[in-house]
Amino acid sequence: MVQTLFIGLDGATFTILDELTRDRPGDGVVMPVLKSILERGFAAPLRSTNHPLTPPAWVSLMTGRSPGHHGVHDFVRFEDKGDDVYFTLYDARDIRVPTVWALAERGERSVTGLNFPMMAPPPDIKGNLVPGFVSWKHLRRNTVPTSLYERIKAIEGFDPKELAWDFEREGQIGEPMSQSELEDWVTHHLPREDQWFRIAETLLREDNSDLFAVMLDGTDKIQHQCWHVMDPALWPEHPSEDDRRLRDLVLTYFRRLDGYIERLVALAGPDAHVFIASDHGFTGSADVLRINRFLGETGYLTWHEDDGSDASKRRADANFAYLDWSRTLAYCPTPSSNGICIRVADGPGKPGIPPEDYGAFRARLMADLRGLINPATGRPAIRDILLREDAFPGAAMDQAPDLTLVLDDHGFVSVRNRAPVMVRRPLPLGTHHPDGVFFAAGPGVTRGLRGGRLSIMDVTPMMLYTLGLPVPIDFEGRVPAGVFRDDWLAEHPVRLGPATGAVMAEADGSAPVTGAASGDGDEDGEMDEAERDHILDQLRALGYLEG
Ligand SMILES: [Zn+2]
Repeated sequence: MVQTLFIGLDGATFTILDELTRDRPGDGVVMPVLKSILERGFAAPLRSTNHPLTPPAWVSLMTGRSPGHHGVHDFVRFEDKGDDVYFTLYDARDIRVPTVWALAERGERSVTGLNFPMMAPPPDIKGNLVPGFVSWKHLRRNTVPTSLYERIKAIEGFDPKELAWDFEREGQIGEPMSQSELEDWVTHHLPREDQWFRIAETLLREDNSDLFAVMLDGTDKIQHQCWHVMDPALWPEHPSEDDRRLRDLVLTYFRRLDGYIERLVALAGPDAHVFIASDHGFTGSADVLRINRFLGETGYLTWHEDDGSDASKRRADANFAYLDWSRTLAYCPTPSSNGICIRVADGPGKPGIPPEDYGAFRARLMADLRGLINPATGRPAIRDILLREDAFPGAAMDQAPDLTLVLDDHGFVSVRNRAPVMVRRPLPLGTHHPDGVFFAAGPGVTRGLRGGRLSIMDVTPMMLYTLGLPVPIDFEGRVPAGVFRDDWLAEHPVRLGPATGAVMAEADGSAPVTGAASGDGDEDGEMDEAERDHILDQLRALGYLEG
């Protein structure tokens, strides 16, 4: 019997959902089911990780720990080897703490988790896990148990190419989109979301796991590209025909999403606790800040010489810093990181600053960054600079950039060598905002309350609590006051349990499942160079670059 149903909506924000749950002239109530959940349940803004990016944020939501502890900081990890910097993708093996799936199974609760990032290669879980953010070629070998892939394959209309990330297709979309490309972008996500919904519906009906969790990420993808027709503050009094048509398509997506929520909640039954949450919120970003261009002009880095070859052109256009490492002291590695790495020399004559100069160098760099004024607004381009030791304390702190930039409009930086340092887009793109959404409904949940801001790390404690399990004492999150009624909490007190370190020690020695042999000729094992490039293109398509 489902005790806890979790529905993740990547990037969902109250800026949009409040509009879609009220009666609007012309549109009516686009999401009546979510509206009824608001009325009979609890809702609150949900504060994301200090850098509100999808991989670290979902992993925090799934572990109850911050990135400095769980170890996933970005899509891409970089390793400075002195004369070059290497980039690799983060994956499930980088998560250093137990996930909610592991903790639930340890408490003898059955689990199903669908479409969450950083779940491949599959962790050692007995329940059902279908990972998100992998290409269809790798879906079978990364689905556990092995028999689950055959089950989902048998669902009518199942199409792995529609279900998984379409790197080929989405990789082509890097330039600002035309009207028809925008419409295609939205229409592409309708069947994709439907695939995930049908898997969720089937497994919910047939397996009824104690903890049933599914993540839908069309919200994020659509908001990145279509923000200008979604944000009520940007909607013109007399919209163009094109804008109206695109907005209607977007509303079609949200109407369907509301239908999915209705069906999943109904299948979970009236005794289940229902949580709906996003990994971060959304807002509009019009400014492009070419941060490495700025660092070049201020003398912190040197660009790699373009030798005119195709390879050199490709690298210069990539989503990674392409720099002369022998003459670079500070650089931004990836647009999604919004981070700046300071290079500290690991010996005399090696590239980087002497270790004893770190404090003074960092202070000077921060002062230069704070002095960067956006010509379009006359305001500082950077609203906040997070220090690694403050924002990401923990055993995995060293993997975080030395500085993390919060831009004035919450945008992601660009790492390309183009002038000028700052430009303004004609239309704002959607970007991540630190405040996401949280909804709860079910037995004991406070009715009709919009509470104060919760932490993304509070969600795993609430899932464990509603499964009847103790909350590990080393969690940074908690079961927050206000979500459940006092009389319910008195009858069902929150129990604290052993630290997660103990769980990890116990699980030590169990080999990770590496997936079954593939049956189809097109499916292969390792991620190749081309596919990695597609993932990087995908990051660009998501608006982490100006294109
Ligand atoms: Zn996200």
